[in-house]
Amino acid sequence: MLLRGGAFFESETRTFVRGDVLCADGRIAALGDVEGAEAETIDCEGEYLIPGLIDCHVHVSSSGDPAELTPGPRLPLARRAWRTGEHARATLSGGVTTIRDLGAADRLNVALAAAVEAGEVEGPRVVAAGMGVTMSGGHGHGFIAREADGPDEVRKAVREEIREGATAIKLFASGGVLTPGVNPRSPAFTREELAAGVEEATKAFRTVAAHAQSTEGIKNAVAAGVSSIEHGVWLDEEAIAMMIERGTYLVPTLTAPYHIANGADAGIPAYAVEKGELVLEDHIASYEAALAAGVLVAMGTDQGTPLNRPGENAQEAVRMAEHGLSPGAALLAATGWAADLLDLAEETGRLRVGLAADIVRLSEDPLADIRCLTRREAIAGVVRGGAVTGDTGGTE
Ligand SMILES: [Zn+2]
Repeated sequence: MLLRGGAFFESETRTFVRGDVLCADGRIAALGDVEGAEAETIDCEGEYLIPGLIDCHVHVSSSGDPAELTPGPRLPLARRAWRTGEHARATLSGGVTTIRDLGAADRLNVALAAAVEAGEVEGPRVVAAGMGVTMSGGHGHGFIAREADGPDEVRKAVREEIREGATAIKLFASGGVLTPGVNPRSPAFTREELAAGVEEATKAFRTVAAHAQSTEGIKNAVAAGVSSIEHGVWLDEEAIAMMIERGTYLVPTLTAPYHIANGADAGIPAYAVEKGELVLEDHIASYEAALAAGVLVAMGTDQGTPLNRPGENAQEAVRMAEHGLSPGAALLAATGWAADLLDLAEETGRLRVGLAADIVRLSEDPLADIRCLTRREAIAGVVRGGAVTGDTGGTE
């Protein structure tokens, strides 16, 4: 397949370069002036081609309905599985070709990864954490996480998640917003517990994402060697310095508290709205301080939290830009840098010969207005692994 006549995003220079993109066997075979190639041609005249977006933090089994991602009653498993497939399709049509799912009841994320891989569901590539691992009574228990206490139990839980098919590991280093009675300012797992989990994950070549909002929880997780701090609400200077020293990524998920704090009328439980308001301003200040200091960042929405819907993932790139990233850097946070964090840089995240042909065709220039990523009419097509997906675009 040949995408002809557009301009493609070059990650190194953060600019668009006029040229064609030739895809063969699911990969990018050539970039630039492609002459004489016999291929199905898609006219991309006037378009901007970017790498498929990568969302490093989703809960794709959840729709964003406020009743879902809380420890309440759930629909039968079969119906949730059906819906998860629909959410995966919606995510893909929003331009997201890779997701990392950081916790799902019944490990629906692991099942989804297998279903996509087998071609049963059209969706993004899925890196799945299975169930998260949290302390007894900790954030996420009863819905997206299992409980473990002490380094030995954490070690065993991580081993079991890997046995069940997890390709990433999620540990909870602090309290959070959506679990009633849990304070986001409280640290959770001890440094020893976190280190045991990281050791097991690292042995199996899995990256570790730590849910960490409280300052002490963040420091515990960074010291234990996690790959990314998720949320990072209360960063102080020491935490930022530790992250820089160790190359720990920040996945800020600015979208999650934004919707929760503004969602009282939408049926979000009052305890969550209150906590969402508590974190909102400090969260943005921490993100801005981290950026100013040069902490590595990658895009993650926490999709599935209330009103944070599949397919609307690109709104996070817009928020990351609103609070300090240039449009080019925001695009990288949602593509190349995210691939670096997920250990997928040799697979996707950039438009480079040899990488998977994961490409979003835009009718507008995202460097001129990053918000075009969130406008459905600006997405002319989504190509995943060299195949045109969904009902977006196609051969002309
Ligand atoms: Zn989450």
